[in-house]
Amino acid sequence: MSTSTAEPKNNNQSNMEQEEQNPLIEFQSVLREAIDILNYSEETFNFLKEPMRFLEVTIPVRMDNGSIKVFKGYRAQHNDACGPTKGGIRFHQDVTADEVKALSGWMSMKCGINGLPYGGAKGGVVCNPLEMSLRELEALSRGYVRAVSQIVGPTKDIPAPDMYTNAQIMAWMLDEYDHIREFDNPSFITGKPIALGGSLGRETATSKGLLYILQLVSELKNIPIEGMRVIVQGFGNVGGYLAKYLHELGAKVVGVSDVLGGIYDENGLDIPYLLDRRDSYGVVSNLFDHTISNQELLEKECDVLVPAATGGQITKKNAGRLNCKIVVEAANGPTTKEGAQILKDRGILVVPDILANSGGVVVSYFEWCQNNQGYYWTVEEVDRKLKQKMNESFNKVYKTMKCYGVDMKVAAYIEGVRSIIEASRLRGWIT
Ligand code: GLU
Repeated sequence: MSTSTAEPKNNNQSNMEQEEQNPLIEFQSVLREAIDILNYSEETFNFLKEPMRFLEVTIPVRMDNGSIKVFKGYRAQHNDACGPTKGGIRFHQDVTADEVKALSGWMSMKCGINGLPYGGAKGGVVCNPLEMSLRELEALSRGYVRAVSQIVGPTKDIPAPDMYTNAQIMAWMLDEYDHIREFDNPSFITGKPIALGGSLGRETATSKGLLYILQLVSELKNIPIEGMRVIVQGFGNVGGYLAKYLHELGAKVVGVSDVLGGIYDENGLDIPYLLDRRDSYGVVSNLFDHTISNQELLEKECDVLVPAATGGQITKKNAGRLNCKIVVEAANGPTTKEGAQILKDRGILVVPDILANSGGVVVSYFEWCQNNQGYYWTVEEVDRKLKQKMNESFNKVYKTMKCYGVDMKVAAYIEGVRSIIEASRLRGWIT
């Protein structure tokens, strides 16, 4: 299964730490900054600080042992002023309502930055897919679609993969949706298998997008990709492909990690070997006797640190000890606001998630366009259009950063929020 990896959260966290790591509070505080800089009204902030629609569902699933287990699921639709909402569905034991709400807001920002005709959405199911059989996962995927079917659809809200969900899960979800509607709806969901109308280049899109961003950053900071020392936290779909591309271009991937731990070698790791040996959950560290923890890995020396696992990894606790020049956020929300402030004070550039990892939703949009046209593009065409989008979006955010004298995250929110506000005003929702 293609995934990012994640570490279970520590249940003994203090309230302050939990607050620091509540992604909805993170989202709202950066949104606040962007809205204040743009001189938008308080009502605008109030309108955008939470999703416009949020559904909580229960999903009963018959498990392999014959018992019925009831799972909790969510779907958040942040804003649909610009078009239908769009965003993935994650299967993870730590999924919370606030996390899904924040992730839907971040999806709005990603769509806004890239000029996609969507608002953001996100779904989540509280479950541990690592402990479930394929049959149980299929029943859960179909059950989720039945539970949210009234509010999703090709011109309403279009799901996609996220943490621990993949093309096979999209296929089951599409099949369930087609049964409910009684006709074929390929544009209901993206990240599908090619045989069901998926797009060439979608599986690798997030990593390719990250690579294009890294190429731009490498020019900006004068650190050539060839010889660049990179640490990638998370060796799932995103981290794995990114490590592969970087290795092929001559970068030195000195560290990678998975849900169990990390490996580090200052001379560079044998990435083709690791990709060959990783399991379907991206686990490779179990092949080694000497491993380090995920937290230790983040503090190892490198030029570029790419957190590609889960949220809340770089906080005020460890930001002072990071040993890199640039952080490129491949996961959603890996750096807390206070962590980011420390990095800024230390002169470490943080390329924000909503820009850096937006290649996934960009190619999801291409997939949806192809489904609607019934006309399919070559992988070269997809990659060329993706590269163009990432270049334009990076340059736009970089210019805004310089123009307003803010960090890149705030600049990305400024660019992300503009079109939603304009569309909401034109619809007469806000003034
Ligand atoms: N889950 C991915 C993200 O967080 C992709 C969403 C999509 O393709 O709609 O950006």
